[in-house]
Amino acid sequence: MKSYRKELWFEVPTRRAFINITPQIQRCLNECGIQEGLVLVNAMHITASVFINDDESGLHHDYEVWLEKLAPHAPVDQYRHNVGEDNADAHMKRQIMGREVVVAVTGGKLDFGTWERIFYGEFDGRRKKRVLVKIIGE
Ligand code: ZN
Repeated sequence: MKSYRKELWFEVPTRRAFINITPQIQRCLNECGIQEGLVLVNAMHITASVFINDDESGLHHDYEVWLEKLAPHAPVDQYRHNVGEDNADAHMKRQIMGREVVVAVTGGKLDFGTWERIFYGEFDGRRKKRVLVKIIGE
C-alpha cells in the first residue's frame, strides 16, 4: 500500500470564504499516482472546515446567511470564548460545516456524485491556515 501526505496552505483576505479545492486535491492524486484507495482532506484549524457540496454561488450565499443566523459574529461580547479574541462564531460555524471529508479514489479520480465538489470553508481568515491531504491505496 502506498501513502501520501501533503499540506495545502490558504490565506484568505476576508474573514469568511468558501473555496473550491477540488482541482488541488485531484493534483495531489495525480502527483502520488494512487489509482484505487481513499483520500482524506481535513482542516488543521478549529475555525475552518472542509466539506462537500455544490459549486453554486447562490447556495454559498445561503450558507453564509444561515450560518450567520445560527452563530452571528456580532455582538462579539455575547460569547464567553471572546475574552481577548473575537472568533467564537467561527468555532461554531466550523462545527456545523465539519472538519473533514473522505472520498473514494477509483481509476485515479475522485469518485464523486454528479455535483459533489470539495470546499475549504474559512470562518476566521486573514491569516495563514493549513489543510491536510492524506491518500492511501495502490
Ligand atoms: Zn477562538
